[in-house]
Amino acid sequence: MRLILLGPPGAGKGTQAQRLVERHGIVQLSTGDMLRAAVREGTPIGLRAKELMDRGDLVPDEVVAQIVADRVEAPDCVRGFILDGFPRTERQAELLEEILASKGLKIDVVIELVVDESALLGRIEKRARESAGNARADDTPEALKKRLDVYRAQTAPLSAHYERIGLLKKIDGMAAMDEVTAAVEEAIAESVA
Ligand code: AMP
Repeated sequence: MRLILLGPPGAGKGTQAQRLVERHGIVQLSTGDMLRAAVREGTPIGLRAKELMDRGDLVPDEVVAQIVADRVEAPDCVRGFILDGFPRTERQAELLEEILASKGLKIDVVIELVVDESALLGRIEKRARESAGNARADDTPEALKKRLDVYRAQTAPLSAHYERIGLLKKIDGMAAMDEVTAAVEEAIAESVA
């Protein structure tokens, strides 16, 4: 099973992805986590990405797509994967289709977590508090504002793209976490033969 989780920062993609990992034995591919690892390790990509990430801008499409292309080759992806935070632009969606097509694979379902923007700042502030000393450099009000602007302008249009090709399931991301999980499972059951 291969699925995409779509939704703005703070929508709960990471939490739901972790639950899917436990229930379905598939892997979570978070491009944000991969990029943060590259920053920590000081790789050439990490060095390039850090400044963009800290201010809430996107890392270039081709760079992120290459990371995903390499990652999906790994043996742990054979049973499937959850893309969390990728694709984020129309170009990335195109590149993803090319990556998967070259391997004879396709996405089964795209699940969008729909949330009120007004709730997101509070959620991100909570995440920053709970991660204490490990808080993300981009979980600040300024970077969040930028991340939301970027989401609206570049990522939100993907919802219509996936709706057009019949892959989209929208879920109320404002519901309680367990209810969201139940709705995600239902969407998967309807989509995956
Ligand atoms: P996330 O953990 O998904 O919120 O991502 C954190 C940051 O990493 C984003 O604000 C971007 O700077 C960068 N990033 C993560 N995924 C992508 C992507 N698919 N395309 C471009 N930049 C990304």
